[in-house]
Amino acid sequence: MTELRIAIVGFGKIARDQHVGAIAAVPGAMLAAIASRNASLPGVPHFATVEELLEKGPQIDAVSLCTPPQVRRAQAAAALAAGKHVMLEKPPGIGVAELDPLIAMATEAKRTLFATWHSRHAPSVEPAREWLVARRLKSVHINWKEDVRVWHPGQAWIWEPGGLGVFDPGINALSILTRILPKPVFVTAAELAFPANCQSPIAANLTLTDIDGLPITAEFDFRQTGPQSWDILVETDEGRMTLSRGGRIMAVDGKVVADAPDEEYRELYRHFVKLAATGASDVDLAPLRLVADAFLLGKRNIVEPFVD
Ligand code: NAP
Repeated sequence: MTELRIAIVGFGKIARDQHVGAIAAVPGAMLAAIASRNASLPGVPHFATVEELLEKGPQIDAVSLCTPPQVRRAQAAAALAAGKHVMLEKPPGIGVAELDPLIAMATEAKRTLFATWHSRHAPSVEPAREWLVARRLKSVHINWKEDVRVWHPGQAWIWEPGGLGVFDPGINALSILTRILPKPVFVTAAELAFPANCQSPIAANLTLTDIDGLPITAEFDFRQTGPQSWDILVETDEGRMTLSRGGRIMAVDGKVVADAPDEEYRELYRHFVKLAATGASDVDLAPLRLVADAFLLGKRNIVEPFVD
């Protein structure tokens, strides 16, 4: 099998925590270069920018964009224009429409554009989807609360326009929700809490529904200290299904029915290698559209300033 030679662009927390190990573990993928202004990895060719990588770097087939969302569209366009396959970290963009020209470029060039949703590859997401499809749903509640100081230390971009604030983790919950529910959902109300010194929300409460009027609520909060929550609870006619720890564990009426080791990023790269073999794209914007709608129709409250 010819290996997909991948360059990581933006060598920050997620690139180090997940991408390097996942690329090393997936047959058919290899790390060929890194483009990052400040960071590098011993033994791997390094370039400061994606432009320098594309101009002076070794032969590569693909880039994996691990930069903040505000700069990814331009990087993706440059890589596609150079004939590379592109993998986007989540969220796929700072707006919904900016993906359209990228999708068109990828289609025309027969190159892969892969907008990843790592949480969808958590081990209990597919078992949950299969379990729910055979039941009548009564209500859904999402409880997604984490300590931003622990998980995003010093990441100023998250508080800037396009940084999404608490929707940066919250969109992971929405990526699971839009995968496990049998029908499309939409936002009907939202309340967003903006720190007085920030451009993105630190907390958000959403109300959503589907065509049948299924009641869905979501609580996102970046101010959670102590135990962290990444849980989705679904009441059904045959009991309460809970997906906890970000999709890792599934339980029905408190009894664990699925729990397996986390392979989220390996799954992403397995899928990327397969997509790139034919130049097919995979871009599902449903989670991003829900976040965009929460910003469109949400009530805004100003809360105390956030100091990292
Ligand atoms: P991060 O630690 O801030 O890393 C991003 C890297 O991109 C930085 O280290 C920086 O490296 C580079 N960068 C920053 N601003 C840039 C700019 N203006 N132009 C070019 N390069 C820039 O962020 P992260 O946590 O890895 O998150 C990156 C993306 O992954 C986000 O979209 C996030 O939602 C997603 N993600 C993060 C996590 C997580 O647990 N952290 C989990 C899943 C997904 P240089 O200074 O070397 O250029």
